[in-house]
Amino acid sequence: MENMKIKMTTPVVEMDGDEMTRILWGWIKEKLILPFVDLKTEYYDLSLLNRNATKDQVTIDAANATKRLGVGVKCATITPNKQRMEEYPELTEQWKSPNGTIRAILDGTAFRAPILLPFIHPVVSSWKAPITIARHAYGDIYKAVDLRTNEAGVAKLYFIGESGAEQTLDVYKSDGSAVWLAQHNTEKSIRNFARSCFEYALDTKQDLWFSCKDTISKIYDGAFKEIFEEEYQTRYREKFENLGLVYFYTLIDDAVARAVRSEGGFIWALKNYDGDVMSDMVATAFGSLAMMTSVLVSPDGVCEFEAAHGTVTKHYYRYRNGEKTSTNPMATIFAWSGALRKRGQLDNLPDLAAFGDQLEAASLNTLKSGIMTGDLSRLVEPGFEFKIVNSEEFLDAVAVKLRESLGKV
Ligand code: NAP
Ligand code: MG
Repeated sequence: MENMKIKMTTPVVEMDGDEMTRILWGWIKEKLILPFVDLKTEYYDLSLLNRNATKDQVTIDAANATKRLGVGVKCATITPNKQRMEEYPELTEQWKSPNGTIRAILDGTAFRAPILLPFIHPVVSSWKAPITIARHAYGDIYKAVDLRTNEAGVAKLYFIGESGAEQTLDVYKSDGSAVWLAQHNTEKSIRNFARSCFEYALDTKQDLWFSCKDTISKIYDGAFKEIFEEEYQTRYREKFENLGLVYFYTLIDDAVARAVRSEGGFIWALKNYDGDVMSDMVATAFGSLAMMTSVLVSPDGVCEFEAAHGTVTKHYYRYRNGEKTSTNPMATIFAWSGALRKRGQLDNLPDLAAFGDQLEAASLNTLKSGIMTGDLSRLVEPGFEFKIVNSEEFLDAVAVKLRESLGKV
């Protein structure tokens, strides 16, 4: 039996996490992966206490390993806040978000896409395929300085170059109290964002939209538009045309109107704030956070797959009290399927790549057969018959379907 398992050559970087998702992680491996795949991973334990014990070095090591090996899969992790410092008195520091650390090291962009089901209809009735949101994760108001003043006066924007060259602009001459803000972005970050978007569009064979407000913000947003256009023309145009894909720029307000009228099925790249807002809107309109997948893509195509949701703390507390919870493992399963498929593609292992598809199909077919977790049962349309099961029962049902499709009944 052992030698019947699907072979791997290069390991996937495996980043274990916290709470309920850590429990699901173990079950997914045990029930859906290890019986079928001769799994090779480079394992990093990103649980909060191990990050604390290693002074967060484990997060940095995991990110560097992902850079080196090209594919990672990450479990949700706790980002400690004040309350967590009380819950875990052994913490020596309020460690930073691991996702932030990994994103900074990979210089990556996060792409979020919902998993769709035929019996749960998006709020926007025209949407038939997922809309993937790509949010630029650096700068703008998230790295701005702002100021509130209480008298008449003038604010100036001043730049001094390393050469000593200076530039000054009058921002505004105010005749009373006012608020001010200065924000920035860097050409490097915008260019890397653009490259990640084009790479991911090619990888997933989807059209790419980018939108901002260059008619108003002629220089700032104008630079975003120009850099995307330059990257498209010089690096990606031919590849897009060969695949019949479209790169499409339009103003943000026009893009919103078009997105709502569209059938979905494209990637929508957005500046930091626009992406923050639109990703929550799109996620909510498609249904459930538990069905939202996320992949971090670096400008050179390194991929780290994860679920968009957190560690599902409330379920974990109930699990710890001996309760069997009905936590939805779909997004975490899809993180594994995505990582194994990508590894299979990179290493030219068609069976491994196909396994990613089969794992996803088995999970979707289980849901389509009416076996589901509680969160989804609240969204199904009237008339669809279903049975609510706990997480382990759900995974067992997926395993049955997976065995069938792999001919291992
Ligand atoms: P969360 O873990 O996403 O859960 C929020 C609520 O959404 C849950 O209480 C649950 O609602 C529902 N939910 C989310 N995922 C679900 C699933 N798979 N199945 C069923 N229901 C699901 O967010 P949170 O409670 O705000 O954060 C918990 C911890 O996760 C925090 O420590 C935070 O730092 C961390 N976090 C990590 C990441 C990451 O690693 N990428 C992302 C976000 C948050 P009900 O309770 O109503 O069932
Ligand atoms: Mg938000």
